[in-house]
Amino acid sequence: MLLALAGLAFAPADVVIENAKIWTDGRDGFARSAAVSGGRFVYVGDDAGAFVGSETRRVDAGGRLVIPGLIDSHAHMMRGGIFLSQLQLRDAASKADFIERVRKWAAALSEGKWIVGGRWSVESWQTPEQPTKEWVDAASGGRPLFLSRMDGHSALVNSAALKIAGIGRDTPNPAGGVIDKDESGEPTGILRETAMALVSRHIPAATEAETAEGLRRAIALANANGITTVCDIPTITDLPDYERLATTNRDCRIVLYPTAGDWTEGVKVARAFRGADGWVKFGGFKAYFDGSLGSRTAWMEKPFLNNPPQDKTWSGLPMPILTDGTFDKNARAAVDAGYQIIVHAIGDQANSVLLDRLLDLYDRGSRAGSELRKDIERLKAARHRSEHAQHLLPDDISRFGEYGVIPSMQPFHKADDGRYAESYIGAERCHSSYAYKSLLAGGATLAFGSDFPVVTINPFLGMEAAVTARILDGKIWEPQESISVADSLRCYTSRAAQACFMEREVGRIAPGFRADFVVLSSDLFAPGVDWNSVSALQVWVEGRRIGGANNPGRVRFGE
Ligand SMILES: [Zn+2]
Repeated sequence: MLLALAGLAFAPADVVIENAKIWTDGRDGFARSAAVSGGRFVYVGDDAGAFVGSETRRVDAGGRLVIPGLIDSHAHMMRGGIFLSQLQLRDAASKADFIERVRKWAAALSEGKWIVGGRWSVESWQTPEQPTKEWVDAASGGRPLFLSRMDGHSALVNSAALKIAGIGRDTPNPAGGVIDKDESGEPTGILRETAMALVSRHIPAATEAETAEGLRRAIALANANGITTVCDIPTITDLPDYERLATTNRDCRIVLYPTAGDWTEGVKVARAFRGADGWVKFGGFKAYFDGSLGSRTAWMEKPFLNNPPQDKTWSGLPMPILTDGTFDKNARAAVDAGYQIIVHAIGDQANSVLLDRLLDLYDRGSRAGSELRKDIERLKAARHRSEHAQHLLPDDISRFGEYGVIPSMQPFHKADDGRYAESYIGAERCHSSYAYKSLLAGGATLAFGSDFPVVTINPFLGMEAAVTARILDGKIWEPQESISVADSLRCYTSRAAQACFMEREVGRIAPGFRADFVVLSSDLFAPGVDWNSVSALQVWVEGRRIGGANNPGRVRFGE
C-alpha cells in the first residue's frame, strides 16, 4: 500500500511550476515549485522535479510571484458585461464633456432607441453639479435616456423618458424611492432608488445574444485581472442566461446570489437551477437594506451633514422590505432551504439592524446563556453576509466576528468615497468606516470584491486602497484601518472562498486544491510596489492556461 501510494505521488504531473515565488497561504515563507495533475495541485514545495515526465508542461515562472486565482466576492457580471457596450460616463471630466458624450452617442443611435449607460459621478468633476434633464434633452435628440450614477442608486433621465413613464409634477414618490423635483415642483430628471424602476422597466430587455456576449466579456475581463471565481449578483430573471452559460463556461467559477422579490418562489427557482458542478452554482439571495453614501441614501443612525433646511433630519433611506415583513419572510425561506442571505448594507444603521435581524432568525427566545451561544453557533454556520459594510457603529464591529456575519467589502470604494465621505458624515463617523483592520481583529472573515461595474474590477487597485489607504485624490485617508499585503490577498482568496463555501476547493495553493493560479508581473511583497502596474501575466484554471492576461491600467473604469 505504501509503495502504491508512493508510486502515485510521483506519477508525472500534467503541469509543473518551477522557479517561482509561490504565496501558498499555508506555509511559512514561499514555495518554489508546484505540480498539478487532474486539475488539482498534487505537490507544493521546493522541488517538483520528481513530477516532471515526458508529457509534463513545465512553467518557468522566472522567479515571479505566483498567487492563488483571485476570488471577487461581489460583482454584477452580466449587467456589467452588457454595460461595457453602453455609454460610459465614469471618466467624463465636466458638464460640457458629459453633454458632448451624450450628443455623440445619440447621433450614432437610430431614432427611438434608448440611450442607456452612465456610471457618472459628479464628485470626479472640478465643479460638482447635479445633472438635470435640461442638460441632455437637446443632446439626446428626442430619444429616451436613462443614465445611472456610478453606484446605480440614482439615475438621470430625460424628458422623453419621463413622458414614456408618465412621470410628472403630480407623481408621488414610490415606496423606497425619490423623484427629485425643483422648487416649482417639476421633476429634475434625477430618480433615486426604487423611483428608477418607474423608467427602467420601459427599457427593452437585452436579447439572449446580448446577455451571452455580456457574460463572455465580463468573464474575459475578470480572467485578464487574475480573477478565477466570482460571487455574482444578477436578478432572478437572469438565471436562464446563467444556465446557458453553465453549459460552456470553464474559465471562471460563478456563485450566484440573485436579487428576487419573493424568496419562497426564489427557492423553487434555485432548486430547479441547472448549473455545472464547480462552475456555475447557486449560493443564496441578495436583499437591499439601504442605498449608498454617494446618493446620500445610506441608512445612518444620525443625520447626514449639510442637509437642506427643509430636510434637516435626513439620515438615508431604509428599504420598505424592513418594515412590511418582506425581509423576515424571505430570510426565513432562505434559511429553511439552506441558502446564504447576503444583504446590501452601507450605512451604520443598516448594518446594525442587519446584525439584529440575522440573530433574530436563529434566536429561539433565550437572549442569554448557553442557549444563546447555540443559536449564535447556528447563525455562524450559515455564513450570511453584509455586502459593503462600509460605515459601522463602533460597537457593532466586534459583532461581525461574534456572529460569523461576513463583511463582504470592496476596498476600492474607500479610495473613491474617501474624497467626500467626511463632508457627508463628518470625521468622527469616518473613523469606523471601511474598518478592515478592526473587523479582522474582531475575528470577522473579511472578504473582498470589486462591485464591478460600479468601479473597476482590477483587484490590485482594491488591494492598494486596503494596504496603503491612498485615495483617488492622492491623500492618505484613515490609515489606521490599513491591512497587510498578505491579509489583503487572503481577503481576495482563502477568506473569500469561505464567504461562498468553497474553502476546500479554491483560494489556496495546496495539495488537493483546484489548480487556479496567477503569475504576477510584480512582487506584491516587495517594498514600494507600484500597484498601478501590477498585472496578471498568466492565469490558470484547473491547470489550464486561459485567456491572454493584460494590464488594465490605472482607473480605466469598466474596461
Ligand atoms: Zn453591487
